[in-house]
Amino acid sequence: MEDWELGDKWQDDEVFNQPKRLDDGKGLFLGLSTMALLIIISIILFIWYMIEPRLLEINHNLPTIIGIIIGIFIIAWVVEYLLIVLSAITERNLFPFRIKNGRWIAPLFALSLRIGRLFGISKDRISNSFVKVNNALVKSRKEGIDNEALLILLPRCLQNFKCKQRVVEDIDNCKDCGQCIITQFKSFRERYKFKINVVTGGNLARRIICRLKPSAILAVACERELVSGIEDIGFISVIGIANYRPEGPCKNTMVDMEEVEKTIKFLFNKKDIFVEEELADDKKHDRVRLFRAGRR
Ligand code: SF4
Repeated sequence: MEDWELGDKWQDDEVFNQPKRLDDGKGLFLGLSTMALLIIISIILFIWYMIEPRLLEINHNLPTIIGIIIGIFIIAWVVEYLLIVLSAITERNLFPFRIKNGRWIAPLFALSLRIGRLFGISKDRISNSFVKVNNALVKSRKEGIDNEALLILLPRCLQNFKCKQRVVEDIDNCKDCGQCIITQFKSFRERYKFKINVVTGGNLARRIICRLKPSAILAVACERELVSGIEDIGFISVIGIANYRPEGPCKNTMVDMEEVEKTIKFLFNKKDIFVEEELADDKKHDRVRLFRAGRR
Protein backbone atom coordinates (compact mmCIF):
# COMPACT_ATOMS: atom_id res chain seq x y z
CA MET A 1 0.00 0.00 0.00
CA GLU A 2 1.35 3.43 -0.95
CA ASP A 3 2.54 5.59 1.96
CA TRP A 4 2.07 9.33 1.98
CA GLU A 5 2.84 12.21 4.27
CA LEU A 6 0.52 15.17 4.59
CA GLY A 7 1.59 17.73 2.01
CA ASP A 8 3.08 15.19 -0.44
CA LYS A 9 0.20 15.72 -2.82
CA TRP A 10 0.88 19.45 -3.04
CA GLN A 11 4.34 19.37 -4.55
CA ASP A 12 3.29 20.65 -7.94
CA ASP A 13 2.69 23.98 -9.61
CA GLU A 14 -0.98 24.12 -8.56
CA VAL A 15 -0.07 25.01 -4.97
CA PHE A 16 -0.11 28.77 -5.40
CA ASN A 17 -3.17 28.96 -7.67
CA GLN A 18 -5.59 27.29 -5.32
CA PRO A 19 -8.94 28.78 -4.33
CA LYS A 20 -9.10 29.07 -0.53
CA ARG A 21 -12.28 27.03 -0.26
CA LEU A 22 -14.00 24.57 -2.59
CA ASP A 23 -17.63 23.59 -2.48
CA ASP A 24 -18.69 21.51 -5.46
CA GLY A 25 -21.84 19.42 -5.53
CA LYS A 26 -22.14 15.68 -6.15
CA GLY A 27 -23.23 16.32 -9.77
CA LEU A 28 -19.74 17.23 -10.99
CA PHE A 29 -18.18 13.86 -10.16
CA LEU A 30 -21.31 11.89 -11.09
CA GLY A 31 -21.42 13.57 -14.53
CA LEU A 32 -17.73 12.92 -15.20
CA SER A 33 -17.84 9.34 -13.91
CA THR A 34 -20.87 8.64 -16.17
CA MET A 35 -18.80 9.83 -19.14
CA ALA A 36 -15.88 7.68 -17.92
CA LEU A 37 -18.14 4.63 -17.69
CA LEU A 38 -19.53 5.18 -21.21
CA ILE A 39 -16.01 5.57 -22.60
CA ILE A 40 -14.82 2.32 -20.96
CA ILE A 41 -17.90 0.42 -22.23
CA SER A 42 -17.35 1.80 -25.76
CA ILE A 43 -13.70 0.66 -25.68
CA ILE A 44 -14.71 -2.84 -24.51
CA LEU A 45 -17.34 -3.11 -27.28
CA PHE A 46 -14.90 -1.82 -29.89
CA ILE A 47 -12.27 -4.38 -28.86
CA TRP A 48 -14.87 -7.16 -28.98
CA TYR A 49 -16.00 -6.00 -32.46
CA MET A 50 -12.38 -6.03 -33.67
CA ILE A 51 -11.53 -9.51 -32.37
CA GLU A 52 -14.84 -11.16 -33.28
CA PRO A 53 -13.67 -12.40 -36.76
CA ARG A 54 -10.56 -13.94 -35.16
CA LEU A 55 -12.71 -15.73 -32.56
CA LEU A 56 -14.94 -17.05 -35.37
CA GLU A 57 -11.90 -18.57 -37.03
CA ILE A 58 -11.07 -20.45 -33.81
CA ASN A 59 -14.61 -21.73 -33.16
CA HIS A 60 -17.96 -20.58 -34.56
CA ASN A 61 -19.55 -20.58 -31.03
CA LEU A 62 -16.78 -18.54 -29.41
CA PRO A 63 -18.04 -15.02 -30.43
CA THR A 64 -21.49 -15.82 -29.00
CA ILE A 65 -20.06 -17.17 -25.71
CA ILE A 66 -17.65 -14.25 -25.22
CA GLY A 67 -20.37 -11.79 -26.36
CA ILE A 68 -22.74 -13.12 -23.67
CA ILE A 69 -20.01 -12.89 -20.97
CA ILE A 70 -19.17 -9.30 -21.98
CA GLY A 71 -22.89 -8.41 -22.13
CA ILE A 72 -23.53 -9.79 -18.61
CA PHE A 73 -20.46 -7.95 -17.26
CA ILE A 74 -21.54 -4.62 -18.83
CA ILE A 75 -25.17 -4.92 -17.68
CA ALA A 76 -24.07 -5.82 -14.10
CA TRP A 77 -21.65 -2.89 -14.04
CA VAL A 78 -24.24 -0.42 -15.38
CA VAL A 79 -26.88 -1.61 -12.87
CA GLU A 80 -24.37 -1.36 -10.01
CA TYR A 81 -23.33 2.10 -11.17
CA LEU A 82 -26.94 3.31 -11.44
CA LEU A 83 -27.66 2.03 -7.92
CA ILE A 84 -24.61 3.90 -6.62
CA VAL A 85 -25.68 7.11 -8.39
CA LEU A 86 -29.29 6.88 -7.17
CA SER A 87 -28.14 6.01 -3.61
CA ALA A 88 -25.80 9.02 -3.65
CA ILE A 89 -28.48 11.39 -5.01
CA THR A 90 -31.30 10.26 -2.71
CA GLU A 91 -29.02 9.38 0.27
CA ARG A 92 -30.98 6.11 0.58
CA ASN A 93 -29.26 2.77 0.31
CA LEU A 94 -30.81 1.11 -2.76
CA PHE A 95 -28.50 -1.92 -2.59
CA PRO A 96 -29.77 -5.17 -1.09
CA PHE A 97 -26.66 -5.02 1.16
CA ARG A 98 -24.68 -2.25 2.84
CA ILE A 99 -22.06 -0.28 0.98
CA LYS A 100 -19.27 0.93 3.22
CA ASN A 101 -18.17 3.97 1.25
CA GLY A 102 -17.36 5.47 -2.13
CA ARG A 103 -14.48 3.09 -2.80
CA TRP A 104 -16.82 1.25 -5.15
CA ILE A 105 -16.92 4.19 -7.46
CA ALA A 106 -13.21 5.01 -7.08
CA PRO A 107 -12.06 2.97 -10.16
CA LEU A 108 -13.76 5.60 -12.32
CA PHE A 109 -11.98 8.43 -10.49
CA ALA A 110 -8.72 8.45 -12.51
CA LEU A 111 -10.52 8.61 -15.87
CA SER A 112 -12.93 11.25 -14.51
CA LEU A 113 -9.90 13.40 -13.65
CA ARG A 114 -8.60 13.10 -17.22
CA ILE A 115 -11.99 14.00 -18.72
CA GLY A 116 -12.27 16.90 -16.25
CA ARG A 117 -8.87 18.18 -17.36
CA LEU A 118 -10.14 18.34 -20.97
CA PHE A 119 -12.90 20.67 -19.73
CA GLY A 120 -10.44 22.68 -17.60
CA ILE A 121 -11.86 21.39 -14.30
CA SER A 122 -9.24 21.08 -11.55
CA LYS A 123 -8.38 17.85 -9.76
CA ASP A 124 -9.34 19.45 -6.44
CA ARG A 125 -12.84 20.40 -7.58
CA ILE A 126 -13.45 16.86 -8.85
CA SER A 127 -12.00 15.42 -5.62
CA ASN A 128 -14.25 17.72 -3.58
CA SER A 129 -17.27 16.43 -5.49
CA PHE A 130 -16.07 12.80 -5.15
CA VAL A 131 -15.84 13.21 -1.35
CA LYS A 132 -19.45 14.52 -1.31
CA VAL A 133 -20.59 11.43 -3.28
CA ASN A 134 -18.69 9.19 -0.83
CA ASN A 135 -20.31 10.95 2.16
CA ALA A 136 -23.78 10.61 0.63
CA LEU A 137 -23.20 6.85 0.19
CA VAL A 138 -22.08 6.48 3.82
CA LYS A 139 -25.08 8.51 4.99
CA SER A 140 -27.42 6.45 2.81
CA ARG A 141 -26.88 3.51 5.20
CA LYS A 142 -28.55 5.50 7.99
CA GLU A 143 -26.80 3.30 10.54
CA GLY A 144 -25.75 4.80 13.86
CA ILE A 145 -22.63 3.74 15.79
CA ASP A 146 -21.59 3.92 19.43
CA ASN A 147 -19.76 7.10 20.41
CA GLU A 148 -16.54 5.24 21.27
CA ALA A 149 -16.55 3.53 17.86
CA LEU A 150 -16.02 6.81 16.02
CA LEU A 151 -12.49 7.91 15.25
CA ILE A 152 -11.83 11.47 14.14
CA LEU A 153 -8.61 11.94 12.21
CA LEU A 154 -7.24 15.45 11.86
CA PRO A 155 -4.34 16.71 9.76
CA ARG A 156 -1.43 18.38 11.53
CA CYS A 157 -1.96 21.55 9.47
CA LEU A 158 -5.07 22.42 11.52
CA GLN A 159 -2.72 23.25 14.38
CA ASN A 160 -1.45 26.81 14.60
CA PHE A 161 1.78 26.92 12.57
CA LYS A 162 3.71 28.57 15.43
CA CYS A 163 2.46 26.29 18.21
CA LYS A 164 5.20 24.17 19.79
CA GLN A 165 2.86 21.66 21.47
CA ARG A 166 3.18 18.13 20.05
CA VAL A 167 -0.47 17.30 19.41
CA VAL A 168 0.28 14.55 16.85
CA GLU A 169 -0.98 11.26 18.35
CA ASP A 170 -1.89 13.02 21.64
CA ILE A 171 -4.32 15.90 21.36
CA ASP A 172 -4.19 16.32 25.16
CA ASN A 173 -0.84 18.08 24.74
CA CYS A 174 -2.83 21.05 23.42
CA LYS A 175 -2.83 23.82 26.07
CA ASP A 176 -6.19 25.24 24.92
CA CYS A 177 -4.76 28.65 24.18
CA GLY A 178 -7.49 29.14 21.57
CA GLN A 179 -5.10 30.07 18.76
CA CYS A 180 -6.41 27.24 16.58
CA ILE A 181 -9.32 24.91 16.13
CA ILE A 182 -7.65 21.93 17.91
CA THR A 183 -9.01 23.18 21.22
CA GLN A 184 -12.58 23.04 19.85
CA PHE A 185 -12.09 19.41 18.85
CA LYS A 186 -10.97 18.70 22.43
CA SER A 187 -14.15 20.20 23.82
CA PHE A 188 -16.24 18.23 21.28
CA ARG A 189 -14.49 15.08 22.49
CA GLU A 190 -15.43 15.86 26.11
CA ARG A 191 -19.02 16.25 24.99
CA TYR A 192 -19.43 13.37 22.53
CA LYS A 193 -16.78 10.88 23.79
CA PHE A 194 -15.28 9.82 20.45
CA LYS A 195 -11.65 8.91 19.78
CA ILE A 196 -9.50 11.51 18.10
CA ASN A 197 -6.01 11.71 16.67
CA VAL A 198 -3.91 14.24 14.81
CA VAL A 199 -1.86 12.50 12.11
CA THR A 200 1.02 13.34 9.82
CA GLY A 201 0.27 10.95 6.94
CA GLY A 202 -1.11 7.66 5.67
CA ASN A 203 1.23 5.35 7.56
CA LEU A 204 0.42 6.81 10.96
CA ALA A 205 -3.32 6.97 10.11
CA ARG A 206 -3.30 3.27 9.19
CA ARG A 207 -1.43 2.36 12.40
CA ILE A 208 -3.98 4.24 14.51
CA ILE A 209 -6.91 2.65 12.66
CA CYS A 210 -5.42 -0.85 13.22
CA ARG A 211 -4.90 -0.08 16.93
CA LEU A 212 -8.27 1.54 17.66
CA LYS A 213 -10.44 -0.52 15.26
CA PRO A 214 -13.17 2.12 14.78
CA SER A 215 -16.53 1.40 13.10
CA ALA A 216 -16.49 4.75 11.34
CA ILE A 217 -13.97 7.48 10.63
CA LEU A 218 -14.58 11.18 10.26
CA ALA A 219 -11.55 12.51 8.43
CA VAL A 220 -10.66 16.16 8.03
CA ALA A 221 -8.05 16.97 5.37
CA CYS A 222 -7.62 18.57 1.97
CA GLU A 223 -9.46 16.89 -0.92
CA ARG A 224 -6.31 15.14 -2.17
CA GLU A 225 -5.62 13.45 1.17
CA LEU A 226 -9.28 12.55 1.63
CA VAL A 227 -9.44 10.78 -1.75
CA SER A 228 -6.28 8.78 -0.90
CA GLY A 229 -7.76 7.84 2.48
CA ILE A 230 -11.11 6.75 1.00
CA GLU A 231 -9.33 4.65 -1.65
CA ASP A 232 -7.09 3.08 1.04
CA ILE A 233 -9.73 2.27 3.62
CA GLY A 234 -12.36 0.14 1.95
CA PHE A 235 -13.55 -1.80 4.97
CA ILE A 236 -14.62 1.06 7.28
CA SER A 237 -17.13 3.86 6.66
CA VAL A 238 -15.25 7.09 6.08
CA ILE A 239 -16.87 10.51 5.98
CA GLY A 240 -14.57 13.24 4.73
CA ILE A 241 -14.80 16.94 5.47
CA ALA A 242 -12.49 19.09 3.37
CA ASN A 243 -10.56 21.77 5.21
CA TYR A 244 -10.21 25.25 3.79
CA ARG A 245 -6.92 26.93 3.32
CA PRO A 246 -6.89 30.69 3.83
CA GLU A 247 -3.05 30.68 3.93
CA GLY A 248 -2.53 28.03 1.24
CA PRO A 249 -2.12 24.24 1.64
CA CYS A 250 -0.63 22.70 4.80
CA LYS A 251 -0.55 25.88 6.91
CA ASN A 252 -3.08 27.13 9.47
CA THR A 253 -5.96 25.37 7.71
CA MET A 254 -9.55 25.60 9.00
CA VAL A 255 -12.67 23.45 9.00
CA ASP A 256 -16.37 24.20 9.32
CA MET A 257 -17.06 23.10 12.93
CA GLU A 258 -20.81 23.29 12.42
CA GLU A 259 -20.52 20.67 9.68
CA VAL A 260 -18.24 18.57 11.90
CA GLU A 261 -20.76 18.62 14.77
CA LYS A 262 -23.69 17.87 12.46
CA THR A 263 -21.80 14.85 11.08
CA ILE A 264 -20.90 13.56 14.56
CA LYS A 265 -24.57 13.76 15.60
CA PHE A 266 -25.61 11.99 12.40
CA LEU A 267 -23.18 9.12 13.02
CA PHE A 268 -24.12 8.40 16.63
CA ASN A 269 -26.94 6.08 17.53
CA LYS A 270 -26.81 6.88 21.26
CA LYS A 271 -29.14 9.82 21.18
CA ASP A 272 -29.35 9.96 25.05
CA ILE A 273 -26.59 12.54 25.13
CA PHE A 274 -28.70 14.89 23.00
CA VAL A 275 -31.88 14.08 24.94
CA GLU A 276 -30.05 14.92 28.19
CA GLU A 277 -28.98 18.19 26.67
CA GLU A 278 -32.53 18.99 25.61
CA LEU A 279 -33.84 18.10 29.10
CA ALA A 280 -31.18 20.32 30.64
CA ASP A 281 -32.32 23.11 28.31
CA ASP A 282 -35.96 22.50 29.25
CA LYS A 283 -35.09 22.58 32.97
CA LYS A 284 -33.22 25.83 32.45
CA HIS A 285 -36.27 27.33 30.73
CA ASP A 286 -38.54 26.03 33.54
CA ARG A 287 -36.30 27.65 36.15
CA VAL A 288 -36.43 30.92 34.21
CA ARG A 289 -40.24 30.66 33.99
CA LEU A 290 -40.51 29.97 37.78
CA PHE A 291 -38.14 32.82 38.55
CA ARG A 292 -40.19 35.21 36.42
CA ALA A 293 -43.46 33.96 37.98
CA GLY A 294 -41.97 34.49 41.49
CA ARG A 295 -41.10 38.08 40.68
CA ARG A 296 -44.66 38.95 39.63
S1 SF4 B 1 -5.15 25.61 20.68
FE1 SF4 B 1 -3.69 23.99 21.26
S2 SF4 B 1 -2.79 23.27 19.34
FE2 SF4 B 1 -3.80 25.23 18.89
S3 SF4 B 1 -2.18 26.75 19.12
FE3 SF4 B 1 -3.18 26.60 21.13
S4 SF4 B 1 -2.02 25.04 22.27
FE4 SF4 B 1 -1.43 24.86 20.11
